[in-house]
Amino acid sequence: MPLRELVIDGFKSFAEKTTIHFNTGITGIVGPNGSGKSNITEAIRWVMGESSAKSLRGSNMKDVIFAGSEFRKPANRAEVTMIFDNKKHELSCDSDQVAISRQILRSGDSEYLINKQTVRLRDVRALFLDSGISQNSLAIISQGRVDQILNSRPEDRRSLFEEAAGVLHFKKQKEAAEGQLDKTNDNLVRINDLVKELE
Ligand code: ATP
Repeated sequence: MPLRELVIDGFKSFAEKTTIHFNTGITGIVGPNGSGKSNITEAIRWVMGESSAKSLRGSNMKDVIFAGSEFRKPANRAEVTMIFDNKKHELSCDSDQVAISRQILRSGDSEYLINKQTVRLRDVRALFLDSGISQNSLAIISQGRVDQILNSRPEDRRSLFEEAAGVLHFKKQKEAAEGQLDKTNDNLVRINDLVKELE
């Protein structure tokens, strides 16, 4: 499902609401050092659920809010929205267009939205799980990430392949079902004990 628009408002160096349009084919973003190119990929990772402030080059998640400049006062909130064309329904959502947003206020309050409805982070993660574009997937390769992947443990590298192949979703469902099965077996053992006591 093609990413059509990225709307960044009050996030890092993007003091003003900025919309980046992605047309078919390759979109290149160029600019001088420090102009905010990496902030764009960080905005994408953030809206997809990045929870580590450190990996966004900050010490606290509130650091993503525009901190002010010589001519501008700091922003009170940051908001990023990714808008996908979902006509082929590759994202498990009924609508033909899916807008995923994340907001954070100076107070630290934050929320996720899918098509303007408040959702939980796990809903956003579930939406992306089969798409191969989750925040940690190879769809986003930032500076230093290639070395990190090459030096990672084989099991960590395997999970990247599993995600790309779309099996991670089923693996997670299998783990949940196995947990449920264990609980049911424990209950059965307990019931059998009770039956024996009563006999
Ligand atoms: P390079 O080509 O050197 O990698 P870049 O174009 O990728 O640079 P970024 O690293 O995305 O640039 O942007 C860095 C800029 O973002 C710095 O000028 C920094 O001051 C600014 N910046 C980061 N966080 C904030 C914030 N919370 N508020 C305001 N500006 C910020």
